[in-house]
Amino acid sequence: MMRVDAEIPISTVPSSLGTNGDKPDRSAEPADYLDMSSISDPALRPIAEKIAAREDLNFDDGMALWNSRDIFSIGHIANAIREARHGRVAYYNINRHINYTNICALSCKFCEFHRKRGEKGAYEYDLEEIYRQASRADQAGATEIHIVGGLHPWLPFEWYLEMLSGLRQRYPRLHLKCFTAIEIDHFSRISHLSVREVLLALREHGLGSLPGGGAEVFDDRVHDEVFQGKLRGDGWMRVHRIAHELGIATNATILYGHVETRAERINHLLKLRQLQNEAPGFQTIIPLSFIPDGSELGHLPGPTGLEDLKMLAISRLMLSNFAHVKAFWIMQSMKLSQVSLHFGVDDLDGTVVWYDITKRESGRGNPHQEQTVQDIRRIIAEAGFLPLERDTLYRRVIRQGVQWHVENTP
Ligand code: SF4
Repeated sequence: MMRVDAEIPISTVPSSLGTNGDKPDRSAEPADYLDMSSISDPALRPIAEKIAAREDLNFDDGMALWNSRDIFSIGHIANAIREARHGRVAYYNINRHINYTNICALSCKFCEFHRKRGEKGAYEYDLEEIYRQASRADQAGATEIHIVGGLHPWLPFEWYLEMLSGLRQRYPRLHLKCFTAIEIDHFSRISHLSVREVLLALREHGLGSLPGGGAEVFDDRVHDEVFQGKLRGDGWMRVHRIAHELGIATNATILYGHVETRAERINHLLKLRQLQNEAPGFQTIIPLSFIPDGSELGHLPGPTGLEDLKMLAISRLMLSNFAHVKAFWIMQSMKLSQVSLHFGVDDLDGTVVWYDITKRESGRGNPHQEQTVQDIRRIIAEAGFLPLERDTLYRRVIRQGVQWHVENTP
């Protein structure tokens, strides 16, 4: 039986969970949580002073963070922002991922998910299978389904519209967070509609928000080396800019730990910060730790635990105008995600259930990748935080078993 969030004292919950917040959700200041005397590396003190003064960090600050070995101080500074925004709350959601096909016209080198039609392991779900999976999510009390897939060469745009409207008719409670910017761009090409028209049509048929995938690293050198053929960074940002202009909330990612440099990671974060200033609409940054297993880059070692913690903390520090930093436990592991709550992370995402895109064991790992609500809550509580179930838009969910509603709504 699921426990109920009502056990969290209301005074500890940020007054507005917010979504796109260029302002903190609470009135507390990072300075309230900073202890300058605990910062060992002198190179980090000017950075802590900037954070205390609510100044944005620049490229050099980002590199100074990467060059520092003082991981505890980096975590301490990142957590000052995290605590000022969210107090002792850590968010999670009850969701289910549906990867409707792994057939893809592209062959990104870091991707072990994609297949060509007819190739061993290729699959494509029909609409009935998608509805079946959504039904299971609905019956389990999920608030969201997260739908992404490969760039299928033959499915027409109308199929995706039918999928959304079918889901909305059958399961109106479920928030449909669907399609990366790469898929949106693909739909634009196959439908001969503009990106704006595609987004409007998808929303009309039930789209709730966009996930943040497909960003990889906003750098043409990295693009040409490992995901040539895919939308470049400026194209990804254009899709999200248009979504934000239409009032569609989105997320952002960075896939780190393959061929990119640390400087390129910092530049990626700075571009996201700039876009959020110009066209607010990002809810959360999700740094995705590259898992080489089974990909063409399988010879690379992938990031270490310390690199993961630094990436999460530096994301928190550089992205002052993002409300949330999420550890996606499939990439960082549940154990490290728990630790990351002390390194600027405030969200552990969700129950997930099935996830085909990244699997360990050279890609042969089990796609059934599920966390129970009890385990997520236990992990958060053991780290000293208050678990709070959110919906996709970071509104508090009031739950009794599989019955739920969003706070302040019927
Ligand atoms: S990352 Fe996406 S676009 Fe690239 S090959 Fe994999 S499924 Fe296709």
